[in-house]
Amino acid sequence: MELREDVSNISRLVRNPDALHETAALPGMKNIAQVIVDVPIAQPLDYRILDKRQGPAEIELLAPSESFASQIGTRAGTGAGTGTRAGPVEKVTEPDEANTTPAGPPVELGSLCVVPVGKRRQVGIVVGIARQSLVEDSRLRTIGARVRGPTLSGGWLELCRFAAEYYHFSWGEVALPALPPLLRRVPAARRGRAQNSVEEDAPDGSGATSAARAATAAPGPALRTEQLAAIDAITGSNGFAPFLLFGITGSGKTEVYLGAIERVLLRSDQAQALLLVPEINLTPQLQARLCARFPLYGIVSLHSGLAPRERAAAWMQAHEGRAQIILGTRTAVFASLPRLRLIVVDEEHDSSFKSHGGVPYSARDLAVKRAQLEAIPVVLGSATPSLESWYQAQCGRYRLLALAQRASARGADPVIKTIDLHRYPADQGLAAPLRAALDETLARGEQALIFINRRGFAPVLRCPACEWLSKCPRCDTYAAYHKVGASLRCHHCGWSRRVPAACPDCGNQDLQGVGQGTQRVEEAVRRSWPQARVARIDRDNAQGVRGASRTSAAFDAVHAGDVDILVGTQMITKGHDFQRVSTVGVLNADAQLVAADFRAPERLFAVLMQVAGRAGRAGQASRVLIQTRYPQHPLFAALARHSFGEFAQEQVEERRAARMPPFVHHALLTSAARTMEPALDFLRRCAALREHLDEARAVTLYDAVPMPLARLASESRGQLLVEAVRRADLHAFLDAWLPRLRALGNRGILRWNIEVDPQAI
Ligand code: ADP
Ligand code: ZN
Ligand code: ZN
Repeated sequence: MELREDVSNISRLVRNPDALHETAALPGMKNIAQVIVDVPIAQPLDYRILDKRQGPAEIELLAPSESFASQIGTRAGTGAGTGTRAGPVEKVTEPDEANTTPAGPPVELGSLCVVPVGKRRQVGIVVGIARQSLVEDSRLRTIGARVRGPTLSGGWLELCRFAAEYYHFSWGEVALPALPPLLRRVPAARRGRAQNSVEEDAPDGSGATSAARAATAAPGPALRTEQLAAIDAITGSNGFAPFLLFGITGSGKTEVYLGAIERVLLRSDQAQALLLVPEINLTPQLQARLCARFPLYGIVSLHSGLAPRERAAAWMQAHEGRAQIILGTRTAVFASLPRLRLIVVDEEHDSSFKSHGGVPYSARDLAVKRAQLEAIPVVLGSATPSLESWYQAQCGRYRLLALAQRASARGADPVIKTIDLHRYPADQGLAAPLRAALDETLARGEQALIFINRRGFAPVLRCPACEWLSKCPRCDTYAAYHKVGASLRCHHCGWSRRVPAACPDCGNQDLQGVGQGTQRVEEAVRRSWPQARVARIDRDNAQGVRGASRTSAAFDAVHAGDVDILVGTQMITKGHDFQRVSTVGVLNADAQLVAADFRAPERLFAVLMQVAGRAGRAGQASRVLIQTRYPQHPLFAALARHSFGEFAQEQVEERRAARMPPFVHHALLTSAARTMEPALDFLRRCAALREHLDEARAVTLYDAVPMPLARLASESRGQLLVEAVRRADLHAFLDAWLPRLRALGNRGILRWNIEVDPQAI
């Protein structure tokens, strides 16, 4: 073997005298790095390792001609599809390849290196070291400089590979985007080792022992029995243990998280806890609470709102174990955490845990999987769990921990009532009973929230003379009328233009907004209650350079009691502990109630519970009034009883009967083209491929149909739903089917995509 390698090496040198510097490497030892990069290639790419310092000796010790896959003890064959080991896409001249032959730390498993891919250089991760490559010598390219940065652990790579297999993407498409952008940028340095320098000035708590930390931590409130029992259960578990912590807003779930985190950290000096939250704007409040509670621990936030350097620095602190508590949004589920001992997912039902664009993963689902891989407990917390998690708890696969009471004795449940819009037609969006309630609230000097999930002035602008409507020219939807800024704006694709002075079709100058948006409601409220102090919070208000500070100033004003009526979208429903709110009005719940998506009721219930949670925080009598044309809908009855359990049970039975998730499993194939026909035609060709596949027997393929929003940003979009009763059947089918789809390429379409466990179908 060694001899043969020797010979091949020499003959190569003769063929290619430019490669003479290779003699620097030990003769006869051809070392190959297997590298993953952010491209949809089924297998890692092979690269030649040249430099002495990257030399074979160290590498041999690490992994004698074994691939990383076999080292970490999982099945060979990685990523999506079943392609053969691919070489770099094509050989191009690389003038600086020899010059950048790196000095510095050796190429080792988990290290980041610059590699040529096609005509570009990219950062890749070394996932294997081999003695030989199946790629022809002449096509084998040379690995570039090692990037000074983290060495990723086998456990971390394994998590990424699991996600890649589960979502049917390539390993590199998951792993590289999971790193902070700064670390995966090709460094500018040409010589020596490449550096992606990261400022490391954030404090860490490594100096203090756990006992000292406990002594100085600000104690939380004296916990109730049910809270203590929950903490006991979580921290007393052995190995992998999933929990569903179920309790209304204010029932003390966060105190349970903090209590569990505290115990886990006290148990071991280096332990780490990961706390995932749905939104960036919730992290500052929670971070403040964590810092007050754990002043001597390293606490970092990880989310996409951070500046690149901050984000990379925080990531490195977690990676090096200097941060013990990691608070983050969905991307943080991929944080590198050497001593992770607990994962918490707060508001686990929230749709922001689902990633769109790139790999469509669910951070909540991956958190559970990660806990399983690491053999640790994971806590999913919510007042309105996803039906999937609820069902897991019903089946006993997740342990249900219920907090039945509001934690603070002062909080009281609001009365929840519907207002029948048939009986009480809305006047400028507000029905008479809601108006009366607002009168009373103002008279008592209390606060009111008006929740409407539509921003802008009106969802559509209309010409009463000729029935012209403000359609978005690029989507199958209407452009909303924004009075502030005098524009028409499509909320789906971002298209916008100035409001026309007259109807484009007939010249009529009297155009009218149809329906309600936050701006119009704000205007109506100001007109009806001129003495009241009114504020509006929605995304339009929150955008721009000053948006964030404007929004937080508005929230502060509400907290300070300087606002009587707050009008807003979903942004006002989360996280804020407004003390003086006694009335909440909900204006357009019906849009969700009649939506075609089978998950719409679940989302509506969650939003309404969350809105209701804003009322009566200080114990005052409070009410939630929901304007609807369907007051008889069972969702409202369960809501009025504050019974998520009742609602969930109905939903679970409905889904069982209708064969919907969690009783079946879905994958959604989507395609986009200039027009609908080729988009659907592509999907039909994909569906036809099933004829060749045995694995297709256990799945159902539905007809290719236009997506609910069929035309978006000038693209027509089709979808094809794949369904299986057993998850394993779904994956087996996708494993066999997707490589054939890849072979089809993009013929006739712009692109296609596969999504496992789609949230909207
Ligand atoms: P959730 O996360 O379920 O919304 P929190 O844990 O944030 O609830 O608790 C709501 C409020 O009640 C917080 O101000 C918290 O400090 C307080 N709290 C929680 N548990 C208790 C308790 N056992 N005794 C007194 N106050 C508590
Ligand atoms: Zn007109
Ligand atoms: Zn549009």
